[in-house]
Amino acid sequence: MATINEFKDGLQMLEEATGDAERIQEQVLGQILKRNAGTEYLSQYLNGKTDMVLFKKNVPIVTYEDIKPYIDRIANGETSNILVAEPIVEFHRSSGTSGGQPKLIPATAEISNLGALYFTLIASVMNKHSLEIEACELGLTYSYFIYRHFGNLYQAGKRLEFMFVKEDSETPSGLKARSSSTSFYKDDRFRKVVSKHSTSPIEAILCSDTNQSMYCQLLTGLIKRDEVVSVASAFATVVLRAIKFLEDHWKELCSNIRSGEISDWITDSGCKDALSSIMKPNPQLADSIQNICSCKSWEGIIQKLWPKAKFINAVTTGVMSQYVETLEFYGGGLPLVSVFYACSEAFCGINLEPLTGPSHVSYTFIPNMAYFEFLPLNKDSLTIAQEDIETKPVDLVHVMLDQYYELLVTSVAGLYRYKVGDVLKVTGFHNSTPQFQFVERQNVILSIHTDKTSEEDLLKAVTEAKTLLEPLGFFSRGYTSYADLSSIPGHYVIFWELKAKEENDNLELDPKIMAECCYRMEESLGYIYRSNRKQNAIEALEIRVVKQGSFDELMDYYVSQGTSMTQYKTPSCIMSKEAIKILDSKVMAKFFSP
Ligand code: AMP
Repeated sequence: MATINEFKDGLQMLEEATGDAERIQEQVLGQILKRNAGTEYLSQYLNGKTDMVLFKKNVPIVTYEDIKPYIDRIANGETSNILVAEPIVEFHRSSGTSGGQPKLIPATAEISNLGALYFTLIASVMNKHSLEIEACELGLTYSYFIYRHFGNLYQAGKRLEFMFVKEDSETPSGLKARSSSTSFYKDDRFRKVVSKHSTSPIEAILCSDTNQSMYCQLLTGLIKRDEVVSVASAFATVVLRAIKFLEDHWKELCSNIRSGEISDWITDSGCKDALSSIMKPNPQLADSIQNICSCKSWEGIIQKLWPKAKFINAVTTGVMSQYVETLEFYGGGLPLVSVFYACSEAFCGINLEPLTGPSHVSYTFIPNMAYFEFLPLNKDSLTIAQEDIETKPVDLVHVMLDQYYELLVTSVAGLYRYKVGDVLKVTGFHNSTPQFQFVERQNVILSIHTDKTSEEDLLKAVTEAKTLLEPLGFFSRGYTSYADLSSIPGHYVIFWELKAKEENDNLELDPKIMAECCYRMEESLGYIYRSNRKQNAIEALEIRVVKQGSFDELMDYYVSQGTSMTQYKTPSCIMSKEAIKILDSKVMAKFFSP
């Protein structure tokens, strides 16, 4: 529990930082240079100097591939100060979003302190809005409600938040390599407070068998259903994975709750211990859950199972926006909250108005987290603006409204002018700090001939096709794509998992409507795609409808390859032959554009 005053401190800190962004950014860069100018990496460009103008003139803008040789040397045992003066304590494995390879990002003690601060700030924002909802339910104004609580201990209720770790691996030099979320969950500071805020026992979160972990987190979430005020996961995929898991396991969960005994296949000692302290026969609870879950339609299931939940807290922007309708269906109208924008490279932004709908979410950058620069992009093609002229990145406070940018990060842990690979659009300012809409991952491109289809283009095309299926009671459980070049000319393949809103595993899809979906997608793709099609340089777009659970298997595949489940984002486009093979083995029907 925290006091209202503690939340207020967080909010005040956000106000101060966003009001003084230019000075704070200069301070952040100044400190980074002062400490690290002597590293092997920076000294080749700065000659030991700490001058910010020189930094911008001489230090190159880089991708992961450019700095990988330095990272590999450290991973193989050379000293950290090739890149950064503060010792590297571990590497964070990025999830390899959009089908790329997982990357190793250096992390220092200061990074974990920044992480703790970032999550405290997020908690302040969320608590403010939870209080606002509560005040509204009581018919009070927010300020009167705060006045009444002022200084009191405030228990905001608990989250049913699905959190997963991956086993640590080690680099040849003995440094840990793990996802940033795993590192966060294993931190003592998190362990100490988790039981106050979350129904998931720490033992279940730290169990690296994701099935046992999910089972225990759902079981405790169901047993404590009256305490749950929000259902959450970092990204929307995991809440949906939990719903699918519940579909497959609710009878077993009810039987465990009825008998007070846990299933034999839960063998992890941590999970067993955590459950044994809360399990007791509860036939009444089992009956209520059974009544809810045996309904034909699972519309609003989250609200029915957790009636005090006020929102679903999981990122639904960027590639996750494909899940908005599905989450709305299961959530029964609960608001969807996307509160953070962060990556393994840096903690970046917070949504200061978390109750705004998914399509209007903007993240306000937090100036203390890293030094941020922005490469202007050409709005139409999202390539670097004015290709003929050398485009210069701009500082955080100098970005322009409505302009698109690619994010560059200079972190306290040895990344300098590093391309994160995300495209952002400026939507406004909070005090002097810009707010950004997440647009897409850069370079996720389907291409057969001269066409270039980005993540956002594909999302629009699928959304367009979905409008034909929604009135028929179908929703999407995931899609991805690849450019099939096995025959000439090649064509786009969209793998699509569809589900009927009414319980029904036998999907009856009308071939005419599915062909129309293919056509709608093509119509929605860019002019160049369509003219290529007219000239037969590209074959007809194909939709391959896959069986229920196929996208969970795709996730399992990526998790087996090193991605953390917590940070998993469905790739919009897959390159991996293995991943394509998995989905191909699940195809139920194929449809082509007429
Ligand atoms: P990782 O480093 O593996 O956790 O992946 C970080 C990437 O996830 C970012 O670079 C973004 O592409 C994506 N991401 C993180 N937060 C958001 C968000 N709020 N909305 C959309 N995409 C996000």
